[in-house]
Formats: sequence, structure tokens, C-alpha cells
Amino acid sequence: FLSNQSAKVFVAGHRGLVGSAIVRKLQQLGFTNLLLRTHAELDLTRQTDVDAFFAAEKPQFVILAAAKVGGIHANKTYPADFIAINLQIQTNVIDSSYRHGVKKLLFLGSSCIYPKFAPQPITEEALLTGPLEPTNEWYAVAKIAGIKMCQGYRLQHGFDAISGMPTNLYGPYDNFHPENSHVLPALIRRFHEAKVSGAKEVVVWGTGSPLREFLHVDDLADGVVFLMDKYSGLVHVNVGSGKEVTIKELAELVKEVVGFEGELVWDTSKPDGTPRKLMDSSKLAELGWVPKIALKEGLVDTYKWYLENVKQ
Ligand code: GDP
Repeated sequence: FLSNQSAKVFVAGHRGLVGSAIVRKLQQLGFTNLLLRTHAELDLTRQTDVDAFFAAEKPQFVILAAAKVGGIHANKTYPADFIAINLQIQTNVIDSSYRHGVKKLLFLGSSCIYPKFAPQPITEEALLTGPLEPTNEWYAVAKIAGIKMCQGYRLQHGFDAISGMPTNLYGPYDNFHPENSHVLPALIRRFHEAKVSGAKEVVVWGTGSPLREFLHVDDLADGVVFLMDKYSGLVHVNVGSGKEVTIKELAELVKEVVGFEGELVWDTSKPDGTPRKLMDSSKLAELGWVPKIALKEGLVDTYKWYLENVKQ
């Protein structure tokens, strides 16, 4: 993959957190022929449109970063959208990629594909060994179907489709919606707005005790390029930082980075979600890749981006 910077690479979902980071990475690496379509230009849930796009453009490589995503509240509120839109997007893109001669495809999932009580840290082998976390099972079932689709197409057709499972991601171009976003962007926004308005308190959801692992999206993009270049296996690959913090520690860190001086208040009427979600990323480390960006450094970078872009 890396020996061919003029190859036509379709990055699906290039405006999102993950897709935009992958585009930045590929541009830094000198890729000159990126194929990008906004949602308005190409609706990936429409099979005939997707197929016509592949027939006309004939991409050589595909990175599938388009998905309907959201935090714990959004997953509870829009279960139909989370399962249907994700199944449609990935089925259309994977199938058209295969039928139109794509050389290699990378599908991106999420750590929530694993059972709620999987042994920690979670290895790739834990997939489908127990019940899922109920707050996001519609999204998780769609992502599991995507992994299995890549495996099925590899086994039946010899199609070089691989899957990467990132841990909780954050960084520039994240969704900072007050209710529907993930915890890290939600807290950046809430602490920032509290600082600006001079509020004395910031409300944080749940008990603060759940543990989460975070990876900066620029690290993920680097890992994705590494997998595109080096990995062609049947089994999906975890992409994590290996470092976990409690939500309370995260909230304290965001508070410090933003410079809010008031108190934290815990709203325990909001769900905690899964108690712990640390991935075992040793398979990727053995292949030769490790992340570089520490959480504090990544938070400073993300808050800087937020300040520069908050008006938009
Ligand atoms: P999850 O990793 O799939 O559970 O997704 P989230 O990022 O939405 O939530 C992670 C944890 O952060 C959960 O325990 C939430 O209750 C907690 N949390 C605390 N404050 C917030 C908030 O403002 N927004 C979100 N989304 N989660 C929060």
C-alpha cells in the first residue's frame, strides 16, 4: 500500500473524526489520488448509488470509516438508525468493493463489539463469547456483521478485506454535541462553556467509576495505514493505547486542561455503561505498531482545535 502513493484510495466518511484523520495522514504520506465524497454527493445507504460510484471510479483501495456513531445516550435513543444505517453502509461498500476489483479494503469497528463481561484486557478471541453491553448492542451487532462480512468475502472470494477495532477515540473533528456525543468531547465542551459563563459546577454523568481506554485519532490513522500496508489476516485487529482511566480521572484531567475552577457534580441517574473496556492490542504490537500520543498531550491538542473551531 505504502509503495503506491498514486493509487486511487476511497476514504469513506472523510468528514468524520476517523476519516478526516486518515485523510490528513495519507496526504502527509504523499498520497495524491484520494477519492472523497460527502454525504450529499454519495449516500452510502443507497446500494445502487454506491455500486454506480464504484463502477465509474474504480478505486484500488478502500478505507471504510463511514458510520452512524454516537455516545451512550444516542445509542439508547436511536437503536433503529444505529443498526440499519451501519448495516446498509458497510454491506454496500464491502460488496461493491469486491465486485469492482478493489485490491484491499479496511473496515473499522469499535471495542463495543466485545461481550460486556469479556476478560480484560480484551483479546480479539473474545468476539462472540458472551452477551453484549445492552446500551449499544444495535451498533455492536452491525459492526460484528461487518467483521464477519470481511471474513466471509476473504474465505469465499479471496478478497483482501481486513478489520481494525479501535478503542474509544478522540481528537479534531469529533462530535461535540452536548447529549449525543461521547464522553471526552462532551466534557471538553461542558467544562469550556462553564469556564466561559463563570458557572460554579459541571455535571458529569454516572458514578465516575467506569474505566475507559482512549486513543488519539491521529494515532489510529497511523495504525490504519500500518495495517493497510502490513496485514492481510482473517482475524480483526485491536487498535488501542493500552492505558485506561476512570471517568472521574478523565473529568479531572479535562477540567485541568480547560482551566475550569469549579466543582464536579455526578448525575447518577445517567447510565455508566460497561464497567471496563480495555483492549489487548498486543497483536498489533507484535506486528510492529504502537501508539505515540499520551492522553494529556492529546487532550491539549483537542482542546486547542475546539477553541479554533467552536464557532463553526
Ligand atoms: P461508552 O464508552 O460506549 O459507554 O460511551 P460514552 O463515551 O458515551 O460514555 C462513557 C462513560 O462516560 C459512561 O460511563 C458515561 O456515563 C460517562 N459520561 C460522563 N459524562 C458524560 C457525558 O457528558 N457524555 C457522555 N456521552 N458520557 C458521559
